Amino acid sequence: MRSVEEALEAVLAVARPTGTERLPLDRCRGRVLAEHRLTVAVDVPPFANSSMDGFAVRAADTPGELRLAGEVAAGAGLLTDVAPGTTVRIMTGAPMPPGADAVAPLEIVDERDGAVRVPAVESGASVRAQGHDTRAGDPVALPEAPLGANAIAVLASLGIGQVEVRRPPRVAILSTGDELRAPGEPLEPGQIHDANGVALAAAVEEAGGEATPPVRAPDDPVQIEAVVRSAAARADLLVASGGVSVGRHDHVRDVIERLGSLDFWRIRMQPGKPLAFGSVNGVPVMGLPGNPVSALVTFELFARPLIRRMLGLPGSGRVTLPAVACERMGKDPDRRAYLRVRLSRGPQGLEARPAGGQQSSQLRPLALADALLIVPEGEPAAEAGRTYDALLLGQTA
Ligand code: AMP
Ligand code: MG
Repeated sequence: MRSVEEALEAVLAVARPTGTERLPLDRCRGRVLAEHRLTVAVDVPPFANSSMDGFAVRAADTPGELRLAGEVAAGAGLLTDVAPGTTVRIMTGAPMPPGADAVAPLEIVDERDGAVRVPAVESGASVRAQGHDTRAGDPVALPEAPLGANAIAVLASLGIGQVEVRRPPRVAILSTGDELRAPGEPLEPGQIHDANGVALAAAVEEAGGEATPPVRAPDDPVQIEAVVRSAAARADLLVASGGVSVGRHDHVRDVIERLGSLDFWRIRMQPGKPLAFGSVNGVPVMGLPGNPVSALVTFELFARPLIRRMLGLPGSGRVTLPAVACERMGKDPDRRAYLRVRLSRGPQGLEARPAGGQQSSQLRPLALADALLIVPEGEPAAEAGRTYDALLLGQTA
C-alpha cells in the first residue's frame, strides 16, 4: 500500500502546464494568470489626490482664515493654484491643486461668505500621494489562485485591460457500470443513478478545469475502450470512476493497460483505497473508485491538485485548520481517515462533529460536511478531545 503523499507525488510528476490565451478582464473570473508577477508601467494612483471632500490648503497657512479661490472636482484637468492665504474646494479623488499639500475635510471647517476658517492640519493630511499604492517599475505579486473580484480590481487599476491566462485543462469524465442510469431517468430493478458523472464534472470546474459532458459506459471493454480513445484524442485528462477494482466486471484497468500504461495503487486512506493512474497517448488517466464518497474524496486529494498543477497553481488551494474532535469516531486503524465533519466554534476552539454516518456509501454527510478531519494511519479512531487537521471543503480557489 502507498501513502497519500507517495501517490500524490507520482500523480503530479506527469502534469504539464496547459497553453495560454489572452482575455479581456471581464472574461477572466475564475481563470488563472499565466504569470503571477507583473511589472507595472504606471503609478497608482497616477497623481496625488484628495481622500476627502473638503478644502485644499497649504498646511503652513493653518490654523487660519483663508479666501476661497475656486473648486476642483474628480476628473478635473485644469487646476486653480492654491496661493498663500487661499483655499480651493476639493472633492474626493480630485487632483491636488498646485501649492496645496493638505486637505481640511468639510466636517472640520467653517465656511462663510467666501472665507473659510480652517483649524490646524498637517502637511499630507487627507492626501493620497501619487504612487502610494503601487509605483511604476515595482514588481506586483498577484495571488496564485483563480482570479476573483479583488485581483481583477487590482489589474484594472494598474491599467491592464487584457491578461494572458492559462487555458483550463479539458477533463473528460467517464462513469462505468452496467447498473448506472442518468440522473432523472426511471430505474429498472438493480439499477442506480450515476452520481459520479455530474459530481466529478462539478468538482473539475471547482478545481479550475473545464469538464466535458460526462459519459457513461457499461461494464463492457469495447465500449470503455471507445470512450477512453476519444478522450485521449481530445482531453488533457481523463477521470473515470468505477470498474478499477478487482471484480470480474472491472474492465477500466485492462483497457487502459492495453491502450497505454497504468499503475494500480492501493492507497492507505479511507474512504477510497484503489486508485488507477496511467496515460493513453500522453494524456493522464485517473481511475477512481466507483463508490461516490470514495470517488469524490480521491478526486479531492489527487485530481484537484493535478488540475491545479496543469494551471500552474500550487497545492490543492484548500485551507487546513486544527480542530478538536468532540466525540470518538472510529476508523480503520491501518489507513488515514478523512472523516466527514461539521465545524463550529466552541469553548475548545474549532470543534468537529460527524456530519453523519462515516460509511463510504453514505453520500449526504459528505455534502453536509464543512471539512474532512484527517486522522492518521496507526490510530483506531479520532479520540474525543484530541486535535486533528481539518481540510476545509469550502470553495477557496
Ligand atoms: P465499482 O468501483 O465499480 O466496484 O463500484 C463500487 C460501488 O460504487 C458499487 O456499489 C457501484 O454501484 C457504485 N458506483 C459505481 N459507479 C457509480 C456512479 N457513477 N454513481 C453512483 N454509484 C456508483
Ligand atoms: Mg462497477
